[in-house]
Amino acid sequence: MKVRAFIGMGSNVGDRRAHCTEAQARLARLPETVLLRVSPLVETDPAEGVGGGPFLNGVAEVATALAPLELLRALQTIEDALGRPPGHRPGTARTMDLDILLYGDRIVREVGLDIPHPRLARRRFVLEPLAGLAPDVRHPVLDLSAADMLRDLEAGRASRRASDAP
Ligand code: ADP
Ligand code: MG
Repeated sequence: MKVRAFIGMGSNVGDRRAHCTEAQARLARLPETVLLRVSPLVETDPAEGVGGGPFLNGVAEVATALAPLELLRALQTIEDALGRPPGHRPGTARTMDLDILLYGDRIVREVGLDIPHPRLARRRFVLEPLAGLAPDVRHPVLDLSAADMLRDLEAGRASRRASDAP
């Protein structure tokens, strides 16, 4: 059975739009996975210390029969193919960053994989495209919809739990 998952996509090095287009094409070719929809891409200033220019960010919706860790590995293979250097430090400039935001209503807490993505509720550049695609999709830990999380963030009320995450 396939699960509906949301994948955050971001690029701030080189031809950012081309990297996002290529990532989408590769998502569409993943085994046991259907690419359902992709949000418009939004431009975002990099977080402090990231380096490089502004990001282009978007969210893809897929239906996948890959298990969460299989999906993560598949995304890492796409990141590598798009020129992410080995030994890349988290949170720094990149040709392509692919994060699993939500995987159905599953909560995953494993070494190297946290779902829902720990910073989902406090990143406007993720919540805006997510809420545009699927306003009613729910965060299974916070029990808030994407539209709720975006509204709370805009009102400066990102939940303590979400804003405490690293
Ligand atoms: P970041 O996305 O935080 O800027 P990276 O893309 O370099 O940094 O990812 C760092 C690590 O985050 C990855 O090696 C991966 O194991 C881990 N990780 C934990 N949860 C997730 C998730 N939901 N999606 C993608 N990566 C995740
Ligand atoms: Mg990442």
